[in-house]
Amino acid sequence: MITFLSGGTGTPKLLRGMLELLEERDIAVVVNTAEDMWLSGNHLSPDIDTVMYLFAGILDTGRWWGIRDDTYVTHDLLANLGIEEFIAVGDQDRAVHVARGEMLRSGMRLTEATTALCGKFGIRATVLPMTDSAVTTYVKTRRGEMHFQEYWVKHRGDVAIDGVVRRYREPPAATREVIEAIEASDAVVIGPSNPVTSISPILECAGVREALRRHRCVIAISPFIGDAPISGPAAALMRAFGKEPSSAGTYSLYEDFLNAFIQDIRDPVEIEGALRQDTLMVHRGKSLDLAKYLLTLIYGC
Ligand code: GDP
Repeated sequence: MITFLSGGTGTPKLLRGMLELLEERDIAVVVNTAEDMWLSGNHLSPDIDTVMYLFAGILDTGRWWGIRDDTYVTHDLLANLGIEEFIAVGDQDRAVHVARGEMLRSGMRLTEATTALCGKFGIRATVLPMTDSAVTTYVKTRRGEMHFQEYWVKHRGDVAIDGVVRRYREPPAATREVIEAIEASDAVVIGPSNPVTSISPILECAGVREALRRHRCVIAISPFIGDAPISGPAAALMRAFGKEPSSAGTYSLYEDFLNAFIQDIRDPVEIEGALRQDTLMVHRGKSLDLAKYLLTLIYGC
């Protein structure tokens, strides 16, 4: 089994390739939940939804979120009723959020709710939220703290930020299922997800970093080329997190447990010992090529 640590874009692109090479049941994905939120009474877990929809074959891979060909009847009607949601939630997507909200309200752990939803979609991969307790990423702005989703979706990242904080009632701990998946895996792969908002929240869950340090094969892929990410707000977030927005900054967050670090062939930043590959997964074939390379690396671990 291979365990992936994932956000909602970079690592899912890699999983798209892995799905063509591995049996689904040999894949486990530990997913960031620090972007979760309740919206109109329902529970959004953006990264879990993306990973789940990818495995279910219904993900909108144009945007890397939401369900392909979804409709927006409820979202539009809510707006007419004066309920302005800053995220355009599709009707089918919303049904998943409603179901998850109900499951959580009935006392299920997020891990159990995710397993139940995956079962309904016929998913055989193991999809695991990083923790069962609530933890949320906020960015610090001049106007005060803002939920990451509000910063990125509502304001399209067009707000100056000078800090990143995680808010929680109790410090988040990795679930037993997460630690067991890491320990049972031949390798752990940190895909090219946002180091600040997707991967660090997972690493901050008590038990994860220690489990990775004990592991004999942990591989990460950089989401940066030079001082820019392939997409998204990672550069501003890295600066606000006190890190250089580059592969070097990314590497510095992971180096205590990594066995291999992969940078894009176009990346001008030099990191001693790093491997080079074409990591731009612009289509399915590129995802497949990178996945094949990773498997040869893993079997040589
Ligand atoms: P989010 O949850 O939607 O923010 O998604 P992730 O954290 O999983 O992924 C966002 C990161 O993916 C960004 O920092 C991008 O630079 C990176 N990314 C997106 N596509 C690619 C790609 O094809 N190759 C690489 N190397 N990184 C990518």
